Amino acid sequence: MPRFTDTIAALATPMGTSAIALLRISGPDTQRLAAAIFGATPPPRLARHGDYRDTAGRTLDDTLFVFMPGPRSYTGEDTLEISCHGNPFIAQKILEDLLRRGCRAAEPGEFTQRAFLNGRMDLSQAEAVMDLIHARSERALASAHRQLRGALRRRAEAAVEELLGVIARVEAYIDFPEEDLPAEDVNLVTAGLQRVRAMASNLLATSHYGEILRDGIKTVIVGEPNVGKSSLLNRLVGRERALVSSEPGTTRDYLEEPIALGSHYLRLIDTAGLNPSPGPLERLGIEKTRERLEEADLFLWVVDQTGPTPSLPSDIEGIANAENTILILNKCDLGGEVGVGALPYPSVRVSAKTGEGIDVLCERIAALADRFQAEVGEDQVAINARHAAALTTVMDAIVAALAKLEHGEAAELLASDLRTALRAWEEIAGRVDNERMLDALFASFCIGK
Ligand code: GDP
Repeated sequence: MPRFTDTIAALATPMGTSAIALLRISGPDTQRLAAAIFGATPPPRLARHGDYRDTAGRTLDDTLFVFMPGPRSYTGEDTLEISCHGNPFIAQKILEDLLRRGCRAAEPGEFTQRAFLNGRMDLSQAEAVMDLIHARSERALASAHRQLRGALRRRAEAAVEELLGVIARVEAYIDFPEEDLPAEDVNLVTAGLQRVRAMASNLLATSHYGEILRDGIKTVIVGEPNVGKSSLLNRLVGRERALVSSEPGTTRDYLEEPIALGSHYLRLIDTAGLNPSPGPLERLGIEKTRERLEEADLFLWVVDQTGPTPSLPSDIEGIANAENTILILNKCDLGGEVGVGALPYPSVRVSAKTGEGIDVLCERIAALADRFQAEVGEDQVAINARHAAALTTVMDAIVAALAKLEHGEAAELLASDLRTALRAWEEIAGRVDNERMLDALFASFCIGK
């Protein structure tokens, strides 16, 4: 008995002019539809060429189609993929015809949601599919692939197994409330819980790296007005984005631009000039800048090397260090050499105007960015915010359980904490019974995925 009774259809490629557009159909009515549209049931998993005929018998396009019977398909259901010419008008006509024939327009992420609910992948793999689609750097891709191949699920499974062993040992005493856990069991339970806690904390330590892979390394350009911050941003982005002006303090708000740099993905943020006596409009920009500074991963501190000896902007005092900050001596085309003394940051001479030194700067930025991966290790999976929330629950529950164990509290109370930890671990790979959470998760996917 199929889990879903309706058949869904969607355009899987973006609506626009392209070489090819792909439509996807999944559900119990797929085989009948394929036969009705193309005249016969297509053979499994073989590309076929044929006219798409609508309900009125008119040919809408010359197409290539593949029928993939369930359960060996992406969704686990009978699936049909139709490639048509990449004209949005044709794709729309075909989609309308499919709806007329009884299909329902798929919601965002609904194909993947079905894959998950039909047991074709766990939740961490479904999330990896989304990460794969949105990955903007080599490293993000590699991490998404690892997760898609089940790296995170395997870790969660190992922890669940360990925890189940501990729970069995503790629950054996629930029926004997007057008896204490023997010392030998207390030791085994403690050791098991410490191992589970270490697994959770190892994964939690990748949380920031996961954020960096998915959202980019937040790189803030700081410096006095007029030193060339906007010019540098433009130079790095490779096009005119920030408003460059010779009037100090024209960048009133912050600007943000994504760039790929080596195998990294950065979000470059140009701050409002750090004017110590700002006007009201500027003040607003500066407030936003402060927020950006607090969550920044890297700082590019720009100084005008024809100017006086620079001092570190007060906003990054206490946060800047040799590991997260590069001192950029800009305007080297104008000659002069500012005395930077023994400032403890790697520095590089550039000209945002001519492009001189920009390659070296990019290498320096990439070298600092490499540190984020080095901290978590080469083959680490990088968790997302949902996993981090679950793992925090695990940590809290285990800390509570260890305290109860130490105080010799009843096995029943201890078991309740352990069950909380178990449920949280299980949520990572997706034994999730919260339908609203699932809907929200899949709704962030694209239509047709
Ligand atoms: P910001 O206020 O720090 O964002 O500075 P801008 O990028 O708006 O630049 C201020 C002025 O310095 C503009 O007139 C730029 O053309 C000029 N400028 C920026 N970088 C360079 C550079 O490398 N060489 C020279 N000669 N002028 C530069």
